[in-house]
Amino acid sequence: MQTAPGQRVRARFAPSPTGFLHVGGLRTALYNYLYAKKMNGDFIVRIEDTDQARKVEGADKSLLETLEMSGIVPDESFMHGGNFGPYVQSERLGIYKQYCQQLLEQKNAYYCFSTAEELEENRKLQMKQGLQPKYNRKWLPEEMGGTMPESQSRKKLEEGVPYVVRMKVPDYVSIMFEDMVRGPVEFDSATVDDQVLMKSDGFPTYHFASVIDDHLMEISHVIRGEEWLSSMPKHLLLYEFFGWEPPKVAHLPLLLNPDRSKLSKRQGDVAVEDFIGKGYSPEAIINFVALLGWNEGEGCEREVYSLDELKERFSLQRVGKAGAVFNIEKLGWLEKQYIKARSQKKIIGVIKPLLLAELEKKSTDMDTARITRDEYLGQVIELMRERVSFEHEFISFSSYFFFDPEGYEEKAVQKRWVADTNEVLGEFISVLEETVDFSANNLETTLRSFVAPRGKKPAFLIHPVRILISGVGFGPSLYHMLEVIGRETVVRRLKKGIERVPAPGRSEGGISARRAVIRD
Ligand code: GLU
Repeated sequence: MQTAPGQRVRARFAPSPTGFLHVGGLRTALYNYLYAKKMNGDFIVRIEDTDQARKVEGADKSLLETLEMSGIVPDESFMHGGNFGPYVQSERLGIYKQYCQQLLEQKNAYYCFSTAEELEENRKLQMKQGLQPKYNRKWLPEEMGGTMPESQSRKKLEEGVPYVVRMKVPDYVSIMFEDMVRGPVEFDSATVDDQVLMKSDGFPTYHFASVIDDHLMEISHVIRGEEWLSSMPKHLLLYEFFGWEPPKVAHLPLLLNPDRSKLSKRQGDVAVEDFIGKGYSPEAIINFVALLGWNEGEGCEREVYSLDELKERFSLQRVGKAGAVFNIEKLGWLEKQYIKARSQKKIIGVIKPLLLAELEKKSTDMDTARITRDEYLGQVIELMRERVSFEHEFISFSSYFFFDPEGYEEKAVQKRWVADTNEVLGEFISVLEETVDFSANNLETTLRSFVAPRGKKPAFLIHPVRILISGVGFGPSLYHMLEVIGRETVVRRLKKGIERVPAPGRSEGGISARRAVIRD
């Protein structure tokens, strides 16, 4: 889509500070940002706080912080400054008042003194008649085609009766525009209500404020959720009243649950902060959100994109009209792709503080200086990369690289222990104690040549050793795991382990092997 020659692309994200940042909001912000950056333009964040009742203290700042954490840095906002401020609507009330006055004078708007009770009664009546509820234009002045004498309005104003200001929607006109995603769209003005522009508390409505601000802030492209499509006729009429050129618009497809119902808005389910709290990385979240409605091209299988790649490749032409299904499994899959590709250094930056915090809480009998070193963490990362879903799992799922197991998985013990397991293990521990070369390769050779003359298969020892070292019956390659953990800890854990896991079939002070699985 072309912009007028010389017109700079300026796109905006205009959240209401009512709490957390919804994933849908993040997608809107991202698409605006990507489009602006691709076109070498500006990305603006404007806080739309005209609904004072819904305003949440501090939400404006946290919205911006979440955006920044995701890599979306505005060029202009109340935190970043800019030449088109203030960027918070509650600080622009004088501006809206002035433009409201203009519309009143032009007779495109009128005072309305109908009370909430009257409006409600009117609404009920229209519903009963099977009509779409609309303001009944009781206060539309005679000179604007209504029935109310102007003197009545003036009297009410002088008496100080609370009022709102409504726009006068022209009758029987067709409102047409081109949506960059949806193509040509047409509305009949008969379906459009005389929208309130100024509320009785002196605040503008969203519709009025956003049109004025988009114009004054020289917004060239309005990219927002589909739920705002039906507001377009009101907005376009306002542009016409003022004689302003409207920005280009793109309405993004709805976000759907996998059952294709509208994505639930329950707090927490879809808050970007919650995804971050669960351990999803900003890169994966951004990548995931980018794909909610956009793809690079028919038949393009690619799904992993960095923010920089998105800036290059994004286009509004490739945003679909059909609802975009929010599939959380895809986010999990993306997170795994990012963990696989992420540098050790970056991962260490995240997991080291987690490890240090764990070490404060729990004690370890490993050499803490050694296990907190980058080199050690790097080895753990390479062994576990393919197995974790989140970075924090390098510590929680791989805790045996740092802490002795607190117990042994009962099922695994039952499955892997036979009468002579501990006896053979005992002998093997003595061999390990003497093994100077504790490399994975040598450990494999040592174990194999130990079991063979005893008529056992390697698995006879592999599984019990794994269980006593890690507490669980699964994990990365055993030999590599032993190499990383180191001889001293391996031998100590095995010795402690065979005392705690009695061989089955033997009575140990009345406790069967099954119950003797110890958790301390
Ligand atoms: N303040 C509106 C919202 O919360 C912005 C809609 C628009 O982008 O025009 O979604």
